[in-house]
Amino acid sequence: MNQSFNFQINNQFTLNLPADPLQEVFPRQVEGAAFSYVIPQKTQQPSLVSLNKPLALQLGFTAEDLSDDGIAEVLTGNKIIAGMQPYSMNYGGHQFGQWAGQLGDGRAINLGQIETEKKGLQTLQLKGAGKTPYSRHADGLAVLRSSIREYLCSEAMYHLGIPTTRALSLCLTGDKVNRDMFYDGNPQLELGAVVCRVSSSFMRFGSFQLPAMRGDKKLLKEMVDFSIEQNFPHLGEPCTEVYLKWYQEISEKTCQLIVEWMRVGFVHGVMNTDNMSIIGETIDYGPYGWIDAFDLTWTPNTTDAQGKRYSFGAQPEIGQWNLFQLGNAIYSLIDDAVPLNKILNDYATNYEQRWLKMMQAKLGLDDLDLDKQGLDELASEADAVLINRLEKLMMNTEIDMTMFYRVLSSLPKQTEPELTEPEQAELWQEHFRNCFYEEEKLADNYFEGFANWLNDYQQRLSKNNSSESERMQAMNAVNPKYVLRNYLAQQAIEKAEKGDYSMIEELLQVLQTPYTEQKSCEHFAEKRPAWAKNKAGCSMLSCSS
Ligand code: AMP
Ligand code: MG
Repeated sequence: MNQSFNFQINNQFTLNLPADPLQEVFPRQVEGAAFSYVIPQKTQQPSLVSLNKPLALQLGFTAEDLSDDGIAEVLTGNKIIAGMQPYSMNYGGHQFGQWAGQLGDGRAINLGQIETEKKGLQTLQLKGAGKTPYSRHADGLAVLRSSIREYLCSEAMYHLGIPTTRALSLCLTGDKVNRDMFYDGNPQLELGAVVCRVSSSFMRFGSFQLPAMRGDKKLLKEMVDFSIEQNFPHLGEPCTEVYLKWYQEISEKTCQLIVEWMRVGFVHGVMNTDNMSIIGETIDYGPYGWIDAFDLTWTPNTTDAQGKRYSFGAQPEIGQWNLFQLGNAIYSLIDDAVPLNKILNDYATNYEQRWLKMMQAKLGLDDLDLDKQGLDELASEADAVLINRLEKLMMNTEIDMTMFYRVLSSLPKQTEPELTEPEQAELWQEHFRNCFYEEEKLADNYFEGFANWLNDYQQRLSKNNSSESERMQAMNAVNPKYVLRNYLAQQAIEKAEKGDYSMIEELLQVLQTPYTEQKSCEHFAEKRPAWAKNKAGCSMLSCSS
């Protein structure tokens, strides 16, 4: 194996923050430290399943490094590149609304931070590389199926233009891992895997909550100062005023992230505060899911099936709840609840405004440029009413979200001479036929509400300034044609478990340009087939991974 890997390693996290003095791996409470040094576990037979070459090159891997047989050794943690000092991060979190105390990287090990030309410092993190002091009762490992889900979804999200941690590689370890996938007392041996993921920060809301809950103000301040210096340097030197600006920016980033999730129909599934990135990225892909039939109450996570705390439509409010916990955590650095509360309240108004703008874009509704004072606001209110009506209709008609918005962009205009209402409705029924999951919901009595809405929608479109083709183009730039549908990920997993990785590569390829029609990939844009409706992995997922 060659020894190039000429990264510019710059381990700012471990250099600037206090380390756990113990270096043995056994489950424990780690106090007064931001991380523990940990060596990844050696594995039987590491092998590469998929490598994200464009990202690897951006990070400074050379073509030679990538063709090296030993690359899988590096990307599973079997071989440590000189200068890297692997560590796991210490953090806490609220899980499903309850304070859970110390959690930490139970199966994540950071290899180190490297300087990159375009993105500054980037941290490489292995997920599933063995036990750490934070593993509690668990094994620190990950299986192939959940690793494929993380690998594919990070990249799908990135190419949709949504902030996310990236995925550099997916490797098999050659070890078997015992998992009770359905929590029904029937554990199976599954293939062990490691994903190497990349971000400019893996700090979470829970990174600040843990020292705060322990009353360790010194560590809390060190962590906040570090986060500002590393990832928010434009805010200035850390001080009370800058702490508030930091909190405000995190609030805005979180708000924007959730607006984006709502745009594409992504449901994270476990929005615990330990899974909330401090830089506003999508992080920790577990039992996430993508909306097929539009349903604000849908949650992909079996653990959440009763409470529906993390359902699609609950995400914006949960974002605010999580921000409230972060605000509590940094309160001692600010000592004034008023500005913190203001930021938290602004989140709700901000969300409403950004959501409305996003939905107007999805529907191709131009800004109306009304010059009389007050009319702008009235026009937005009217748009909000139109949008809310649509969501209600979609909830009742089981309509595929992704397909609907694409098909809407090419809605046939009312033709001349004017059609009668039933003739018009029939035309529309045909136009949207394929987006419906239940044929009966297309029946005239159901469809009537839809036809009324389409009528009002077309009237609203007639006030647009842009041309029809401009509208269509603009709509197709925010309404993806291809998303990582739950059943597609599951199909890729089932093939990979039999040693066929071709679908992983096919999906990566098509999801690279999700807004562009790709004639040979129509099958990846089809709605969920009937067989997948209640199949595990395609509809609901457990946290077992
Ligand atoms: P999650 O909600 O999946 O992000 O995980 C919650 C906590 O459980 C985190 O602290 C994880 O590091 C930890 N965890 C999850 N799976 C494992 C595992 N197989 N081994 C050790 N720790 C784990
Ligand atoms: Mg997590």
